[in-house]
Amino acid sequence: MKTCVKCAVKRTHTGFRKDSRIRGGYTGTCLPCHRAYRNASYLNNRDEILRKQKSDYDKNPLKYKLSAARYRLKNIAKVRAFHASYRKNNAEKLASWFRNNYILNRAKKLNDAVCWRKKNKSKVSGYSAARRAREINATPGWADMTEIASIYAKATAMSESSGIQHHVDHIWPLKGHGFSGLHVQCNLRILTASENLKKGNKRPEMENLHGNK
Ligand SMILES: [Zn+2]
Repeated sequence: MKTCVKCAVKRTHTGFRKDSRIRGGYTGTCLPCHRAYRNASYLNNRDEILRKQKSDYDKNPLKYKLSAARYRLKNIAKVRAFHASYRKNNAEKLASWFRNNYILNRAKKLNDAVCWRKKNKSKVSGYSAARRAREINATPGWADMTEIASIYAKATAMSESSGIQHHVDHIWPLKGHGFSGLHVQCNLRILTASENLKKGNKRPEMENLHGNK
């Protein structure tokens, strides 16, 4: 047993830091005292420490990136467990980050899209005329336009609440290979954008949305 010079608590040697320069091989302050000192000193000098770290990083970013990559490779299970627990403990924070990011990205995307459309007016009118023509040709008299509009509104609401872009998909695509689906309520469903892009113009039975054949 050894007594800490700071808090005077008696501990076994595992409660102290090893230091071969000191007689007995262990420091005089115990680990909890040492940690408290280190944390307080970090908090007192935080700005200075962060500035120094940033300037070291900026001098040679590759060195730090490589060392981080090596650490991840060596400790892959640990890193994964850390990320999983972080996601679990910060679910609300992450969800709000995704939502905010979605709103910001969406504003940026909309702005980019407006600029692109201004520069490419002829392409735009060609695309939208083709799409409208397909939808008109594919919309029979019994299509319920109110219900169709509500499906599109629901997709927008889902995008906004989850922060994940949702699209309205034609289960049987309007522009399929060798067939044309209809623009009617029962041929519509809501997918995430990534599921929708994976799907392309395939027939429903050829879909492989979840990666299983
Ligand atoms: Zn102590």
